Amino acid sequence: MAKKVVVVGGGWAGTAAALAAKKAGCEVELFERTDMLLGTGLVGGIMRNNGRFTVTEEMIAMGGGDLFEITDANSRHKNIEFPGHKHANLYDVSTIEPAVRKALLDADIRINLKSRVKDIVTENGKIVRVIADIFQENQSIEAAGDSFVDVSGTAGPQSNCSKYGNGCAMCIYRCPTFGPRFSIAAKAGIKEMIGEKADGTLGAMSGSCKLHKDSLAPEIRDTLDRTGVCVIPVPPHLQKSISSLGQKACQQYALKEFAENIVLLDTGHAKLMTAYYPLDVLRQIPGCENARFEDPYAGGIGNSMRYFGMLPRDNALKVEALENVFCGGEKAGLLVGHTEAIITGTLAGHNAARHALGRENIEIPTTLACGEGIAHVKEQMHTKEGLTKKYTFSGSVLFEHIKNKNLYITDIDKIKENVQQADMTGIFAQSLT
Ligand SMILES: Cc1cc2nc3c(=O)[nH]c(=O)nc-3n(C[C@H](O)[C@H](O)[C@H](O)COP(=O)(O)OP(=O)(O)OC[C@H]3O[C@@H](n4cnc5c(N)ncnc54)[C@H](O)[C@@H]3O)c2cc1C
Repeated sequence: MAKKVVVVGGGWAGTAAALAAKKAGCEVELFERTDMLLGTGLVGGIMRNNGRFTVTEEMIAMGGGDLFEITDANSRHKNIEFPGHKHANLYDVSTIEPAVRKALLDADIRINLKSRVKDIVTENGKIVRVIADIFQENQSIEAAGDSFVDVSGTAGPQSNCSKYGNGCAMCIYRCPTFGPRFSIAAKAGIKEMIGEKADGTLGAMSGSCKLHKDSLAPEIRDTLDRTGVCVIPVPPHLQKSISSLGQKACQQYALKEFAENIVLLDTGHAKLMTAYYPLDVLRQIPGCENARFEDPYAGGIGNSMRYFGMLPRDNALKVEALENVFCGGEKAGLLVGHTEAIITGTLAGHNAARHALGRENIEIPTTLACGEGIAHVKEQMHTKEGLTKKYTFSGSVLFEHIKNKNLYITDIDKIKENVQQADMTGIFAQSLT
């Protein structure tokens, strides 16, 4: 009988884990509490900026590039620049989810949408089954597995957004509709970790809002459609202080350019690169007189809070003290980003399949930026200061670290050569059965 991997959470990390486990030769069943895949990725879009280019190409060379090929194919703009960021692609937030869903269904992965996992069954200290409530149907379903991947993210729920943020801002996570996230590893007794801000308060606020493009002036829409970017100077008396940018999850945008201007990116919506922006102030900026928020709906007030509930794990992404549970994405540490979620999700899903098939787990060598990133974040999360930072290949401390190790490379042939030297070429594409 085929070995089975159960994936809890259908964000970028979960979809990547599901594909990787399937390619390695296991049957795969995925649970997602909402009616769509991609989680917070439904409102993101920025790919391949700065060090993310290197890790994307590494993952493609390692045979785990399926989702990157989809984001490339669904990009509205390619190879663009905006303050502090080079060679970015922006995927279209309206076409990406159906494309990813089709890829999973084509791979014969069983997807349970509107199915919120709420409990586990353990035997001899191992999770053997998960139990999920089906939305608005008075029934639950169960799935048994040999290995499990906890990719349930770190966002919300409302109580955290109220306690540590500015309240529920009605974001894409939709807790009031579909219920709060739930971690199978936490339920199995693992103590989750919480990220901190520099001032010691908990969690971090998501770093961008989306404006309805049609609510902006025609010249702004035209610039966005043509170039993907529109930088609009903010009159000095309306500017946010640069220190206020520090509360964001995305520290790569805590640059003065993001206080002196509003930076808009075209992802289908106009992605406004700030955690929230008071509507009355925004509407005083030229061209934004009629601006309205698309996500979160109360983007004039606040945004979702994240980085609650991360799991202790090793560099193979196995959850510490649980034999058959792996984790990826934000669950695997203070990693920000779709790219970061796809990489860690891929490794977690691959190792979940290896475990199910009785093979040893693997790590990505630290001679590659992917492996160094995963190892560095684990190390940093054990320090008090490290817990106050966020880690992304696209900027801030992790990008600096990768550059210092000479691992930021944009020559694709050189990246392929490094992957070859690390003996990782095509590893995630190989069936182990
Ligand atoms: C507003 C915003 C904009 C962003 N923009 C960008 C960007 O442009 N580029 C970028 O790289 N990154 C961006 N990010 C960050 C990025 O989206 C995340 O870091 C990354 O996608 C996290 O992926 P994940 O799979 O770990 O978690 P999530 O996206 O949080 O996915 C977790 C999934 O698990 C599901 N789930 C939780 N509990 C259960 C349960 N019990 N049963 C079933 N399912 C469950 C959730 O519904 C969710 O779909 C943005 C984030 C936000 C909030």
